[in-house]
Amino acid sequence: MIAENIKILRNRIQQTCLRCGRRPEDIRVVAVSKTFPVELIQEARAEGQTDFGENYVQELKAKQGSLLDEHIRWHFIGHLQSNKVKHIAEYAHLIHSVDSVALGREIDRQAELYGRRQDVLVEVRTTDESTKFGVLQENAIALVQELAQFSHLRVCGLMTMGPFSNEPNDSRPSFRRLRQLRDEIQSVGIDGVTMDWLSMGMTHDVEVAIEEGATIVRIGTAIFGNRNYIAKVIP
Ligand SMILES: *Cc1c(COP(=O)(O)O)cnc(C)c1O
Repeated sequence: MIAENIKILRNRIQQTCLRCGRRPEDIRVVAVSKTFPVELIQEARAEGQTDFGENYVQELKAKQGSLLDEHIRWHFIGHLQSNKVKHIAEYAHLIHSVDSVALGREIDRQAELYGRRQDVLVEVRTTDESTKFGVLQENAIALVQELAQFSHLRVCGLMTMGPFSNEPNDSRPSFRRLRQLRDEIQSVGIDGVTMDWLSMGMTHDVEVAIEEGATIVRIGTAIFGNRNYIAKVIP
């Protein structure tokens, strides 16, 4: 089932790229495995899927520990509390959800302890929904500038979520704003900061995200099926 799902997803991405003149190899898929057991992650891994994303620290920690041999790049995509950074600082490939200087400072501190430099994305709030995390657009550049001061942290792009909606096109203004912000940061030019990654687009709006310039898409349902939050699997 997973193999077939991945095939269908890759085809969706390829068709979209053809339509908008982009190259599929420029789009990295992060398979969002939250709530799904390690066996399904292994199945996806066997299909050549290398990047996986988790939202909860404890869940990521447990899965990472039991999949050490799989050579997985682990992405943290959920809201991150400063006091939990220490649990993922040794191995996180990319943290997508930095939205404050305080969190950046703690990531920098933990990365230094492990002798690493941690790649992060700044999460930007591009909708009016007050429940969403992320720095406000108007404060995003200032935050990137402050984070650039930390020597064990590297800002290498931006992340956002579209609005709660089943209509993919409702996400377009959000994604477009994120891309414009990326362009703005690039034209300002901040030392030590790259804008390689635009992390946007999920199962229902991946096409729109690619059209608007996504370089990372975060896909759960299209790979693993529907999540059952009631029987949530935290090993
Ligand atoms: C769950 C989640 C996704 C994946 O959502 P799907 O609709 O299942 O593809 C992507 N990004 C974040 C931040 C998520 O929490």
